[in-house]
Amino acid sequence: MKIVFFGPPGSGKGTQAKLISEKLNILHISTGDILRNKSNYSDSLSIELQETMSSGNLVSDDMLNKIIAEKINSEECKKGYILDGFPRTLPQSEFLLKFLEQNKMSLDIIFDFKIDFRIVQERIMERSKLEKRSDDSIDVIKIRLDKYIQETYPVSQVFANSFVDKYKIIDASKQILEIQKELMKILKKVEN
Ligand code: AMP
Repeated sequence: MKIVFFGPPGSGKGTQAKLISEKLNILHISTGDILRNKSNYSDSLSIELQETMSSGNLVSDDMLNKIIAEKINSEECKKGYILDGFPRTLPQSEFLLKFLEQNKMSLDIIFDFKIDFRIVQERIMERSKLEKRSDDSIDVIKIRLDKYIQETYPVSQVFANSFVDKYKIIDASKQILEIQKELMKILKKVEN
């Protein structure tokens, strides 16, 4: 099963992607997690990543495209995967769709998490107390939401138009368990 998750930061898509990947035993590809791991060192690449991510800006398309191409082609993705945080820009989306076509691969379902931005801001502020992420302060949240609107929302619309039957809107203001059930119900139908 090959799944793409769209949604603004704080929409809960990461939590759902993790749960679903465990249930279906497929790889959870969170580009945010991959980049956070890469930024844990003191070399120049790590420092550059730390600066970009803690300011709420996006890392280069080039780097992300390379990371994703390598992952999707790897043995651990054979059974399927969840893309969580990619594609986030139109160039990334063009790269992905071309890459899939060239490799005769396809996507099974696209989930787009919709939520009021005020709820998102409250959620991220709560998360910042628990996880101490450097990009969870109110000023940075505003930049991240802005990036989402400017860069990622248009990508979700491309997917909505190109994958009409596979594109599903999810009400992300609901409880975690309720959303989980809804996603599983949709996925069961896809499997059959
Ligand atoms: P996330 O955990 O998905 O909220 O990602 C955290 C940060 O990682 C983002 O604010 C970006 O700086 C960076 N990032 C993650 N995914 C991407 C991507 N697809 N393109 C560019 N930057 C990304």
